[in-house]
Amino acid sequence: MTQTFLSLGECMVELAPAGDGLFRMGFAGDTFNTAYYARKLLPDDWRVAYGTCVGDDAVSDDMLAMMQGYGIDTGAIRRLHDRTVGLYTIQLKDGERSFSYWRGQSAAKTLADDPAWLAGVLAEADVIFISGITLAILSPDARRRLCAGLQKAREGRMTVFDTNLRPRLWRDEAEMRAGMTLGARASDVVLPSFDEEQSLYGDITPEDTIARYRELGAKLVVVKNGPAALHVWSAETGEHVFHPEPVAQVVDTTAAGDSFDAGFLSVHLTGGSLENAVRRGMTVAARVVSQRGALVELEED
Ligand code: ADP
Repeated sequence: MTQTFLSLGECMVELAPAGDGLFRMGFAGDTFNTAYYARKLLPDDWRVAYGTCVGDDAVSDDMLAMMQGYGIDTGAIRRLHDRTVGLYTIQLKDGERSFSYWRGQSAAKTLADDPAWLAGVLAEADVIFISGITLAILSPDARRRLCAGLQKAREGRMTVFDTNLRPRLWRDEAEMRAGMTLGARASDVVLPSFDEEQSLYGDITPEDTIARYRELGAKLVVVKNGPAALHVWSAETGEHVFHPEPVAQVVDTTAAGDSFDAGFLSVHLTGGSLENAVRRGMTVAARVVSQRGALVELEED
């Protein structure tokens, strides 16, 4: 029987430097990156769908065509007349990348505004994946609506939350903390990154991060930490520590966490062991950080 993996969030236009002052247009976004890798890694009896809102303009058409080209189901994407997709540029200065964002009128910010649409897409999914960015871009009402929908989906289905903390997207720290708590309470699986949790919550060790999400009701917590040890806690088997293989040449860490999530879930959702799921996530992420860009080809391609 076909199962559906639904990733909800914002995909944006990316303008990346291409030399001589030119920029190359692409598309990326944390939850979309995870959908891209999930489509590559999950077996064919899984449908991978992306849920968001876009405009009805040509650039939105291109975004949907790109997703469909990668085999991602766009049937759940709502199109709006009065908005378009968000955009960011990458600027290179002395080898350092800096990012500027234009997302004020982004259609994705309204992705949980229509209760009927939201209920419909959530009802069709067996696994629902969101991130801290998905929550950050919503209005407080829409955020509550989405989290209530996820809470309901936990009865019989699975919800997954990559915390992806982005303080600049939230009005203030109090709103961010409340939003993250709401998201975590609605999630079975929480996939945080230790450096972000450390700077926001003052965690001293990954065990502190695990303890917080355990208390909020997660059944599985995977604390990523770049090249350092990865800590996992499972309600079934307790705590485990895994070490990523060193990567010979780290070229670009964009989408390391997003691709790890997809690798991990592709094994976890299809009955593999926790260790195999973590190893898969690490192997995929190692390949992604060895190449430039968020969306890279994998060996199996
Ligand atoms: P995020 O992008 O969410 O901050 P991390 O940087 O923690 O995620 O990376 C996620 C995973 O990617 C790590 O658990 C690890 O397997 C892999 N990874 C990231 N950076 C490196 C690195 N420099 N060397 C080896 N593996 C890495």
